[in-house]
Amino acid sequence: MDIDDFRTETRDWLEKNCPPGARGPGEISNGSTKIAIRDADTRIWLQRMVEKGWTVPNWPKEYGGGRLSTAEYVVLLEEMAAIQARPALSSFGTSMIGPTLLEFGTDEQKQRHLPRIARAEVEWCQGYSEPGSGSDLASLQTRAVLDGDHYVINGSKIWTSGAQHADWMFILVRTNKDVPKHEGISFMLLPMDQAGVRVKPIALLSGVSTFNETFFDNALAARDDLVGELNKGWTVGKRLLQHERSGMEALVTGSTTGDDSEIQDVAREFIGTVDDKLADPIVRDEITSYQMNIAALHLTQRRVVEESQDGATPGPATSIFKVVNSELVQDYHDLKTRLRGSLGFGVDEDEFSEDEREMVHEFFFSRAGSIYSGSNEIQRNIIAKRVLGLPD
Ligand SMILES: Cc1cc2nc3c(=O)[nH]c(=O)nc-3n(C[C@H](O)[C@H](O)[C@H](O)COP(=O)(O)OP(=O)(O)OC[C@H]3O[C@@H](n4cnc5c(N)ncnc54)[C@H](O)[C@@H]3O)c2cc1C
Repeated sequence: MDIDDFRTETRDWLEKNCPPGARGPGEISNGSTKIAIRDADTRIWLQRMVEKGWTVPNWPKEYGGGRLSTAEYVVLLEEMAAIQARPALSSFGTSMIGPTLLEFGTDEQKQRHLPRIARAEVEWCQGYSEPGSGSDLASLQTRAVLDGDHYVINGSKIWTSGAQHADWMFILVRTNKDVPKHEGISFMLLPMDQAGVRVKPIALLSGVSTFNETFFDNALAARDDLVGELNKGWTVGKRLLQHERSGMEALVTGSTTGDDSEIQDVAREFIGTVDDKLADPIVRDEITSYQMNIAALHLTQRRVVEESQDGATPGPATSIFKVVNSELVQDYHDLKTRLRGSLGFGVDEDEFSEDEREMVHEFFFSRAGSIYSGSNEIQRNIIAKRVLGLPD
């Protein structure tokens, strides 16, 4: 179909099918079977998007996707943004393990796992980091030993986001300890609801507890849930990280950072305007630089998509997006907090409004952006080696 016709059709469909309560800020499903969607409009929106195949717009139809081309996917996201439609589903399934299974999974694994992800019937968590293995991930020690039809897993993971309500985990495990560390790792899938898996929440400075320690005591992963070859899991695990660092949506649209119009609103409210311009020239300057940096990031993302063969397979350049994006998000929250002056200090105190406290919690959480998914120092190492080709 001609892209302009596709845009018109998409616009009409969204107008008819996206209920008012699914527009603007609000609830977004992550697919977990353990979290009920509270808002009726959000539920209806999810159901309609599932039927349309647009929870995973670029996946093949047989796995519940919409089979959109990259150009059509961009149009869909632009039209959703125009009416402030929230994503119907945002999960580790759609952004990380799904695309990885599309590339490395067997037909049987794809049939078994992908449609459930697309239909928001499952949420996944990521079992990578361990107490002694963060940046040096390949040193991981959690063991898996084949016993009949199952791998028996023992050890522990840490910082496992969402493990408390995840249904499945994708996990990196050691399956051979007598070879160089990268060559003895395998990538597996395991159900969380089993006696051998125990999840213990970790409380954060930002007030929430989004991640956990996860312990494995003879936990079982089916032999059929080994992804890729035994001991070749490092390759699979690295590709998943590239998906995590780019996010397909960010790759196709170049939109990941905070909305600068929100900063301008805060600036107007707290420092006022003169002749319809923000009163303080230094703040004006900071907002302008922020806007320019976002524009540069978005253009770079679009260029990388256009340069990649099919527009969908991310590579090491995603490390650039991760560094720049996380730093821009931090700038965004830093500036917003500073603009509010003494109202930007409230953490839990009663004299601050819920909105003011929420903003400070968001500021705290933005600090984590340069750590998770591999710290920014590690991303700079990857950029030096794999993008710029500098020697070790
Ligand atoms: C909010 C959040 C959510 C997370 N969710 C998950 C999850 O769901 N699943 C999961 O598996 N993990 C998760 N993580 C863990 C995350 O991947 C690790 O924290 C990260 O990889 C860093 O590892 P580390 O904390 O062990 O730090 P370390 O590796 O101990 O690093 C400490 C410091 O040393 C620096 N450093 C280390 N090595 C080098 C080097 N070679 N060159 C330069 N500097 C270096 C690092 O940049 C860092 O500043 C999450 C983390 C956060 C903050």
